[in-house]
Amino acid sequence: MSQQERIFLSSPHMSGNEQKYINDAFDTNWIAPLGPNVDGFERELADYVGVRDAAAVSSGTAAIHLALRLLDVQAGDKVFCSSLTFVASANPILYQGAEPVFIDSEPDTWNISPNALERALVDAERNHRLPKAVIIVNLYGQSAKMDELVAICDRYNVPIIEDAAESLGATYKGKKSGTFGKFGVYSFNGNKIITTSGGGMLVSNDVEALKKARFLATQARDLAPHYQHSEIGYNYRMSNILAGIGRAQLEVLDERVAARRAVYNRYVVAFGDIDGITFMPELKGTYHNRWLTTLIIDRDKLGVTPMQVIESLSKENIEARPVWKPLHLQPLFESVKYYSHESNRSISDELFVSGICLPSGSNMTEEQQNRVIQNIIKLLNQRMAV
Ligand SMILES: *Cc1c(COP(=O)(O)O)cnc(C)c1O
Repeated sequence: MSQQERIFLSSPHMSGNEQKYINDAFDTNWIAPLGPNVDGFERELADYVGVRDAAAVSSGTAAIHLALRLLDVQAGDKVFCSSLTFVASANPILYQGAEPVFIDSEPDTWNISPNALERALVDAERNHRLPKAVIIVNLYGQSAKMDELVAICDRYNVPIIEDAAESLGATYKGKKSGTFGKFGVYSFNGNKIITTSGGGMLVSNDVEALKKARFLATQARDLAPHYQHSEIGYNYRMSNILAGIGRAQLEVLDERVAARRAVYNRYVVAFGDIDGITFMPELKGTYHNRWLTTLIIDRDKLGVTPMQVIESLSKENIEARPVWKPLHLQPLFESVKYYSHESNRSISDELFVSGICLPSGSNMTEEQQNRVIQNIIKLLNQRMAV
């Protein structure tokens, strides 16, 4: 193992201003899952993305779970979900005892295929079993094809939950990612574009629904002086200390997006001309936050697989990862129904075997990035020589 300092895929990047908000919380003794930082973070994030309201919660997963509850997803209901994503997009479907149906990606954005979604909805309508919701994920910071997807879902009257955990700061035709559905979800986990160490946000233009979300997130306590409860609640609210970190992080979000895009651009300069390397595209009219730089490796042309690149980088103490393993291939979801992009072609399967995520942190120095680039070039030269 190389003794050189480790380069992470995506590590927390503090601005320095976080401490001020944390000190405020300590000075006023708001050490609780409520307080001025929580209120401030909610208002500031809602303003930033341009929605009427936001509810700060303990994780992105909790936000998805609350969205499903608010849409009355129950045992036996169906929920459609992108297949190429992190398991957290779909786990809350199981929390509700509902049944996921996975939808493939399309090649232009790597996100949910309008084609496959339409076929799934046609089938569901024929069986009189329309889903209670569709979870649309914006992968690696890129918006899905929202115009097409919103039109299809509207036609069937199925609400959208937009999982924008990875796409905060990205835009689609000038509108912020995460604001196209009935509900939008952001994550502030330690590896996301901004972080509170752990946390999430549920956003919506439905202020009443978010009031209900806050109620469910604080153990669903009825209005009574004694502790009275009529439905299942959760302990899902965000700490006032962590919300303070979030407020300072939000102040620098646009800088973080610019820095990640600069990282991406340097990779493009280094690898863009290599026949056999294709970067995740940026859909026309959209602004990708490039949370992670992801690319496809053609093993026939380059003589190397993504796993070989990952292992080679790992020896140099550099973290890289394969693209998410599609959920329809996960043992957890073995018997779940899946709709591929074309009847005999699954895009997410292809991306899984050929895709790789490179270190992309906004705090990565050019020197560190050059180390990543040089190691990959060295490996490719070795391979292509044989
Ligand atoms: C990170 C992530 C989540 C979950 O967020 P947490 O805050 O870690 O619970 C959900 N969906 C996607 C696509 C993610 O990347």
